[in-house]
Amino acid sequence: MALPETPARPAPANAEAYCVKCKATRPVSDGQIVTVKNGKSALKGKCPVCGTTMMKFLSNKQAASAPAAPAAPAEGG
Ligand SMILES: [Zn+2]
Repeated sequence: MALPETPARPAPANAEAYCVKCKATRPVSDGQIVTVKNGKSALKGKCPVCGTTMMKFLSNKQAASAPAAPAAPAEGG
């Protein structure tokens, strides 16, 4: 069963990812938190220097700390 598509959320202003072209970690431009096929969250954005698309997988904790996160029903608090 396919999961419904999760709309991308804006990434935190301080979000960073690794640029394979620059071979350096940089703050992402146009950063977004997206959900990938396996249900994990990833930070997606552009390198501010060369414009290459950057992607970094996030832990659930990191993804949850992103702003505008949908309130997920927590069980067993
Ligand atoms: Zn770059």
